[in-house]
Formats: sequence, C-alpha cells, structure tokens
Amino acid sequence: MTKNNIEDMLASYDKNNLTIATVCSHSSLQIFNGAKKEKFKTLGIAVGEKRKFYDAFPLGRPDEFIMVDNYKEILSMTDELREKNTIVIPHGSFVEYLGPENFLKLNIPTFGNKDVLMWESDRNKERKWLEAAEITMPEEIKDPEKIDKPVIVKYHGAKGGKDFFIAKTYDEFLQRIKKGRSFTIQEFVMGTRYYLHYFYSPIQDDAYKLSKGSLQMISMDRRDETTIDEVQRLGSIQELEEIGIHPTFVVTGNIPIVMRESLLPKVFSMGEKVVEKSLELFGGIIGPFCLETVVTEDLEFKVFEISARIVAGTNPYVAGSPYSELIQPDLSTGRRIAQEIKYAAKQGLLQEILS
Ligand code: AMP
Repeated sequence: MTKNNIEDMLASYDKNNLTIATVCSHSSLQIFNGAKKEKFKTLGIAVGEKRKFYDAFPLGRPDEFIMVDNYKEILSMTDELREKNTIVIPHGSFVEYLGPENFLKLNIPTFGNKDVLMWESDRNKERKWLEAAEITMPEEIKDPEKIDKPVIVKYHGAKGGKDFFIAKTYDEFLQRIKKGRSFTIQEFVMGTRYYLHYFYSPIQDDAYKLSKGSLQMISMDRRDETTIDEVQRLGSIQELEEIGIHPTFVVTGNIPIVMRESLLPKVFSMGEKVVEKSLELFGGIIGPFCLETVVTEDLEFKVFEISARIVAGTNPYVAGSPYSELIQPDLSTGRRIAQEIKYAAKQGLLQEILS
C-alpha cells in the first residue's frame, strides 16, 4: 500500500475513536490487554469456537468479535473494519493464516511497515539485510557434501521449526532430508539462546537514539522447543538417534530470561545496525521486532533469524519485564504498540507508523 493510500484511508478516520484489532491467536491476549490499558476499543477476529476461552480472561478479551469461517474472509471485510476506524496489529499467526500475499493486499491501516515482509520471508534476502548490517550469522553451508560439523537443516516456509533436523555428516543429511522441499543448511551454533524483543519508534526519540527516532529493548525470552529441550530426560541425543529417535524443534512455549548486564551494549548495537540498515533498504522496520540469537562461549552473538513483528516470546511479560520495568511500570510489548498508536494519533503522525 502506498503512503497516499494510507493517508486517504486515514482521512475518513475518527482519530479519537480508533479500534485496535488482531486475529485471536499468538499474542492477542497481550495485544488486547495493552490496548485496553491505553483506553482503545478492541476487536478480535476469530474462527469457530475460539472466542470461548477469552471469557476466562476478561482483561485480555476484546470488546467485540468478528467471526469468520476462514481468515481469508478478512479481505472482504475491509469496509466494515474501516468504518470502525480499525488499525490492525499483525503477529506471526496473522500473517501465516492469511498468507503473506494476502497480508500485503490487506486494505486496512496496519501497524508497522509491510515492506519488511519481502526481506524477512526470503531467507536469502534476510541474510543480505543482516550481513549488510554487519550482524554475525551462523555460517551457511551451500553444499551438503561439505558438512564437516554439526549443522541444522531448515525447510523453507516451515513454521515453528517443524521437521528441522540436526546432521553431523553428509550421510546423516542424506538419511534425513525430505525430497522435493527447499532448505537451508546452517552451522549449528553451540551456546545459549536469547530471543531479544526490541521496539523501534521512528517518531519518538526518548530512548536509545538512532539517526531517526529511537530504540527500546522491552524483554527477552527463551523458547521451549519439543523435543530437543527435554529429550535428555530419556538419554543422550546420540543414544536416542542410534535407535531412530530424532530431536525436533517445535515451539510449545516461552520462558522468561535476563542476560548478564555487560552484554546489553552489544544488544543495543545489534538492534541499532538492523534498524539503520532497514531504513536504508526499505523505509524501516517499525514497531516490535525480535533477533533470535545464540551467545557462544566467547560471548559472541550469532543471529539465526529475525522476526519483524510482535513475537509470542513477549507473552510472559503481560505485566512488564525486568527491562520494561525500567522504562515504565506494567509495560508489555502489546501496550507499547498501543502507546505508539496513541502518540502518533495525537501528533498527526499515524501515516509514519502504519502501512
Ligand atoms: P528458526 O525457525 O530459524 O527460528 O529455528 C527454530 C529453532 O532451531 C530455534 O529456535 C533454535 O532452537 C534452533 N536453531 C535455529 N538455527 C540454529 C542455529 N544456527 N544453531 C543452533 N540452533 C538453531
């Protein structure tokens, strides 16, 4: 969507009566809770019986639901949503359920810069962006025959680590690879995982200052992945592999974590470089994003992935994190999004943070 298009849509919006909407999944409880704290109306887009469980969480329940048979129906509801002065908050499941092409076509003011999707959803472009930003990534092994250390094989488009596997030799790779699917091979980085939750505002400069706007680090988590994270309860990975049981990387939850304080300057420096490069390449990664990292024994960060919107790893922090408490009490990423929209609406800057 062009800037003009957004400005046209916003022209008919009552800026004092905005509705924050998202798809009922992923981080929606947190998004609705944050929006309610900032006094927005909230709207949940749900399929089937999903809305029932929201009754159990009154402070995370949207004021109103729109029920759809499937998420693609949202595309034909744009008039109705715009009449309610709706701003849509994308999250991982939202983009996945709708499909990236449909998400790009969605004709409703959407928080963040949709252009980031092209850079994030293609692993080659993602690497180009991050390496141009001088971020260290795990080595990519182009030729499977050259596997001479532990690697992780990732299928393109696979969600939540589905079917990813570890191989230590070319033979192991051949045994496990599924024909007909495109994949990337990365060095398996030994270390500890940190998923860093940033928030970039192009319109406020009261945090870590960048060439335009400023950067915050709101929280961090570690993902809980089945079976890799608990497989050792049954035996060593090697023992299990010998009897044909292979660890998997399917995300089931998130664990709160803090990092040694001396590493924080590096965290900000990485975030800064990623944002500055994004401004140069496609007009900026706006709002929340996450760098998925492994910290090695030399205290070096290797970034294996970027998520360009709110991640589910922020969910442990509905009532704030050890970092966000140092910004403002009770600040979640969901609430921070609502605050950005509120500030932009007041200053006449909504077109700077929506696409
Ligand atoms: P991804 O889909 O890239 O987020 O990867 C899924 C999971 O695989 C991550 O959450 C990590 O636990 C693991 N992983 C991915 N890439 C690497 C890597 N290069 N080294 C070690 N573990 C990795």
